[in-house]
Amino acid sequence: MSITPVFSFFILPGASGLLLFAAAFIFAMWAQMKVKSAYAKYSRIPSRGGITGYEAADAIMRKAGIRDVKIVRVPGQLTDHYDPINKKLALSDHNYRSSSLAAVGVAAHEAGHAIQHKVGYVMMNIRQTMAPAVNVAASFLPFIMIGGIFLGLLPWGLAIDLGIIIYALLTLFHLVTLPVEFDATRRAKRELEGLGIIAREEAGGVAATLNAAGWTYVAAFAGSLMNLVYLILLRGRN
Ligand SMILES: [Zn+2]
Repeated sequence: MSITPVFSFFILPGASGLLLFAAAFIFAMWAQMKVKSAYAKYSRIPSRGGITGYEAADAIMRKAGIRDVKIVRVPGQLTDHYDPINKKLALSDHNYRSSSLAAVGVAAHEAGHAIQHKVGYVMMNIRQTMAPAVNVAASFLPFIMIGGIFLGLLPWGLAIDLGIIIYALLTLFHLVTLPVEFDATRRAKRELEGLGIIAREEAGGVAATLNAAGWTYVAAFAGSLMNLVYLILLRGRN
């Protein structure tokens, strides 16, 4: 639930593999650039209300009746996330202390995840249930893709099948993540305006930052789907 997801791409063998890889890679880079440039721009534009990211997240959670989530400050840029297991809302340095449109936007987005958790938002529950299995499966990917498929350390059919199973799981996980992320952003926009933390004229800057972040999740889904489709095609050809 961090603002930018981790990608798991491998260069695939063959001309069609290279083409698919290039398309997904360019899409992912485009999304990363979009979020970086939106963040660079709107982290320099202060919100007129002067409320910091910390205060915004706190106010939104209070309004939702959430009292057991601790807001913590974490190093790095855009390392913000909501941790449902430890009930922690982590804000990166800038977003914690700044009152920029980007800071209050990201903080409100994370508070949106805390609200999802409180109300038992079903897509978030599905995502949480899948997360441990996805993490374990994803840790096997380098071995299967590089060791199994490229270096032939596993029987070829078995390596492809394992790759397909893992990418199917990853693709489903990234798909379930999309409504969770879009819903958190929707809640953020509504709460920021509803509580008067930002004025209507400032909503565009918040939306630009959060929508750009949303594209990185679409890119992660597309990248995973690309790998899955490729492995299925590869299996069909042989
Ligand atoms: Zn999120």
